[in-house]
Amino acid sequence: MIHPPAHTLQKSLQCIDGKGYKAYKEIQGAYAFDRFTLYIDHVQGDPFAHPSRLRVRVKRPASKFESLFTQSPSRTTALCDYLTRRFAHTAQRIAHGARGTGKGGVILIDTPGQEILPRTAMTANDTYIEARFFLGLPAFGRRIAGRDAQEMLLTELPAIVDDALFFTESQRKSLTHHVTCCEDADAIRERLGELNCVAFVADGALLARASGIDARPLQKGAIAFASPASLRLEIDRPNGGRITGMGIPEGITLIVGGGFHGKSTLLNALELGIYNHIPCDGREYVVTRADALKIRAADGRSISGTNISPFINNLPLGRSTTAFHTQNASGSTSQAAGICEGLEAGARLLLLDEDTSATNFMIRDEKMQKLVATDDEPITPFIDRVEALYTTYGVSTILVMGGSGDYFATAHRIIQMTHYQPHDVTDKAHAIAREHTSERAIEGAGPLKAITHRTLGPHSIPLGHGRHPKINTYGRHELVLGSTRITFDDVEQLVAPSQTRALAHALLLAAPLMDGCHTMREILNQVMETIEKKGLEALSDILRGDMAGFRSLELAAVINRARTLKSVPAPIKDMVNVWPQKA
Ligand code: ADP
Ligand code: MG
Repeated sequence: MIHPPAHTLQKSLQCIDGKGYKAYKEIQGAYAFDRFTLYIDHVQGDPFAHPSRLRVRVKRPASKFESLFTQSPSRTTALCDYLTRRFAHTAQRIAHGARGTGKGGVILIDTPGQEILPRTAMTANDTYIEARFFLGLPAFGRRIAGRDAQEMLLTELPAIVDDALFFTESQRKSLTHHVTCCEDADAIRERLGELNCVAFVADGALLARASGIDARPLQKGAIAFASPASLRLEIDRPNGGRITGMGIPEGITLIVGGGFHGKSTLLNALELGIYNHIPCDGREYVVTRADALKIRAADGRSISGTNISPFINNLPLGRSTTAFHTQNASGSTSQAAGICEGLEAGARLLLLDEDTSATNFMIRDEKMQKLVATDDEPITPFIDRVEALYTTYGVSTILVMGGSGDYFATAHRIIQMTHYQPHDVTDKAHAIAREHTSERAIEGAGPLKAITHRTLGPHSIPLGHGRHPKINTYGRHELVLGSTRITFDDVEQLVAPSQTRALAHALLLAAPLMDGCHTMREILNQVMETIEKKGLEALSDILRGDMAGFRSLELAAVINRARTLKSVPAPIKDMVNVWPQKA
């Protein structure tokens, strides 16, 4: 298709100079520049609104990015990530910045953090490379600043595109490292199963972060990870050769150690090991199986129809726990629900930290059993279920617990963090457990039936009136869809606001499937299949560059936290046994 040349855009901008802001609408359309095509997809009617939506497309052969950079899905995602970072960096360097009123002057792209995620901000295929970004068309008051707009669109933007979307030899090394590192991390994740491991932490990894609000690596005094010999593994990477590190075996792993010795830092790194990280992050070879789920207490959340009876029974007033409903969960019921909902959605590795767990959910010791009879305690603590979760369903657990030795006997592997270094203390801990036999009674008799599928009823996510429900997101942990507001601060494995934006759109796709017949699992599968087949772009009618990939586990977590959710256990005949018994 032939588009009008760039100077047509220049003429239009001259014509509308000084007119009311709405006249900017006239420049919507596509323009052929020397080296790329510019698409002005949607112009905002106001300089104070979110900047306008634009795209630039460079033909793949002209861009000179060789096919080896896109020869696997991992590499393509990494190339797009690299280009997005470069675009963001160059835009910051080249763009003049604020011009006139409102958002005028800004050129923004959805800038990645430490993780490499699939994003709609950049696409690379055999035909073209396309960047989707936002640009604040400049104004003085509400009058069009045509000269500034010309500078932005005809000088700044081409300079950014030249720098960011065309290959130069000088970037070969860093780009190659970026894509091969990402591919290697995926390859390690793929191999975890055959190694009977749930996670891998490379020797030399730097786990500590700059601060509690800065995910970049700690620069000063960071101590590199060194695996204990008994857990050391060697893995061959497709690109980077052999790498050694600690393999965390399937089963129950306990992380113990003194306060401030690096237990939670290790667990946090494992939580985010479901994602690949950029080179120099320090965690680029900290890899966790893709279905790992962090579970924490979230008192105050709502729960709808979840079978928490594996952990909670005999509540006051005879409340049902096989289909538990509340608008105000306690720490323990929220944690029980988090686990049961996670298993329903497909989690196979649970990650728990004493720092964020309800004590009474994790443990009930001998003295307390003597004082409060089992009949008066609704909770079957996690310690009495963790083994059956593994033997019955093959669900592994990694647990940080520095405050109680009661888990020693149950854990298959005990790792002690001392001065930020791991030591395998399994034998010692098991010996202690044998010597100090406890009179603690095991609770929760009978086989574990931990997975109950639920159907989601109509109006579980009220969309309000009107054909196009409004969608808003606030940071990573809050979204509004139609008349539904959902907050999910406790969902800790979300790393980018653009994931939350994508989740909000996915929810819109999921809502019509909530009809009282489809189960949660079926709904999740259907949405994820759509994304798999058609890309994240399928989530929205319009092409938008501000969405990032997420897992079905996070989609489930968001749905489960909707206060309007109407769900009930599915009839037995509909229950698919997706959980083969462990051999
Ligand atoms: P714990 O959970 O054992 O109490 P944390 O994991 O919270 O300890 O770590 C305590 C502090 O030590 C944190 O400030 C963390 O950033 C820092 N830290 C953790 N691991 C390392 C490391 N490998 N090198 C340097 N500092 C670290
Ligand atoms: Mg801690």
